[in-house]
Amino acid sequence: MHKIDIELVEMTMDIMKYAIDRISSTDRKIGKPKSAEDLKALVGETITEKGIGGEFAFNLWKKHLMHANVSIDHPRHLAFVPASPTRAAIMFDLVTSASSIHGAYWMEGAGGIFCENEAMKWMVSLTGLPESAFGVFTSGGTAANLSAIVTAREYWRSLDEKNKNEKGLIITSSGAHSSVKAMAKVVDADVLFVETEDKMFATNLQDKIDALDENQRKRLFVVVATGGTTNAGIIDDLGGIASICKKENLWFHVDAAYGGGALLADSVRHLFKGIEEADSITIDPHKWMFSPYDCGAVIYKNPELAKQAHEQEGSYLDIFKDEGARGFNPADYQIQLTRRVRGLPLWFSLAMHGTDRYKQAVERGIELAQIAGKLIEEKPFVELVREPSLSCVVFRRIGWKPEDYTHWTYENHEKGMALVTPTKWKKGNAYETVSRFCFINPDTTENDIEMILDSMV
Ligand SMILES: *Cc1c(COP(=O)(O)O)cnc(C)c1O
Repeated sequence: MHKIDIELVEMTMDIMKYAIDRISSTDRKIGKPKSAEDLKALVGETITEKGIGGEFAFNLWKKHLMHANVSIDHPRHLAFVPASPTRAAIMFDLVTSASSIHGAYWMEGAGGIFCENEAMKWMVSLTGLPESAFGVFTSGGTAANLSAIVTAREYWRSLDEKNKNEKGLIITSSGAHSSVKAMAKVVDADVLFVETEDKMFATNLQDKIDALDENQRKRLFVVVATGGTTNAGIIDDLGGIASICKKENLWFHVDAAYGGGALLADSVRHLFKGIEEADSITIDPHKWMFSPYDCGAVIYKNPELAKQAHEQEGSYLDIFKDEGARGFNPADYQIQLTRRVRGLPLWFSLAMHGTDRYKQAVERGIELAQIAGKLIEEKPFVELVREPSLSCVVFRRIGWKPEDYTHWTYENHEKGMALVTPTKWKKGNAYETVSRFCFINPDTTENDIEMILDSMV
């Protein structure tokens, strides 16, 4: 199994050809899921004692399985937060795999971690945090948020013996991403939401803090603000929230998993004012920095606090901390030990193209949202729910019921034309079903948007 033989060489060439075709294609199919039963019926038993052979298995992939995935980088995939990894980054993802690098400790992964750190320095510079700030690449925004919350909680517990037995409390806004609530469960903390249909303003936050009872106030250790809500691209009042966190002695975390890419865009950078005061920041390069999955990042103003929270101890790990093995150890700053050097594809693509191209590609996403906004205003059967923000556009088809949106989504997906899904927007005390575009791929055209809108007639 580990020998090199003719079959392996041929397979390698086949697989490289597939990868080249996929990387260079410009009209990829959008793809759609099938049930597990249907897939099983198509491919049969694949895991057997003797093996079915590489060529046979690869053909099953090409013929059936591959098509049951949605190409997240299709220009008319505008649902959720799509992706659009650069071709250079995808190529280097292959190199990353082929290089077999353990990315937890410098002793084993120095070359790869060096490259990750070069990319990270650039990301930190976008935030405006002081030079002593630093971060690591994680599996995504969820893991980044969890790593930051654990760091904040451990720091809070280190401040006062009494905090050690207290259950922590998090304040965030109703627009925060679902992962904040999910990760609060993991750390067994309570969450309180500032209810808002727009950004979380400093006054909303102050009111919420002032309304806490004594027990709640002493358990409160972190405020999670959002730098670009997933649903609508709304950026909280980061400057105002930073001041309150300072005054109230609270950890200030900014979740910019989706919006972080917009730190590059001169047209909207001012909206993030105050992010430079954060104690920690989440940014997902696999969203708006054109990296392949999976690549998130967590950045800390004071990385030493993250190390105190996350460094793992074990006799088998002692060598990594020895003088002779000195260097930056990504394992010390987030929840994962063994890790892929998942920042490497980003580094290569940045090195190849330069940061100006990244800026242009992000600005294009913002521009596409403005174009979509105009088209929606022009067409009589649709209207904007709110002005486009960052690259998100929330809009309604006048007169449609929730099931109309669902039906429309499936129909377009079935045809292989587009993937655009419904979402909900608060209307008074109830939630209205509406639809939403999120632009990431700079190859999306005005024509693509028009085609999707016209399918709502
Ligand atoms: C996508 C997103 C997350 C979760 O990130 P994953 O990479 O999917 O784990 C967290 N917060 C925000 C604001 C997001 O948009």
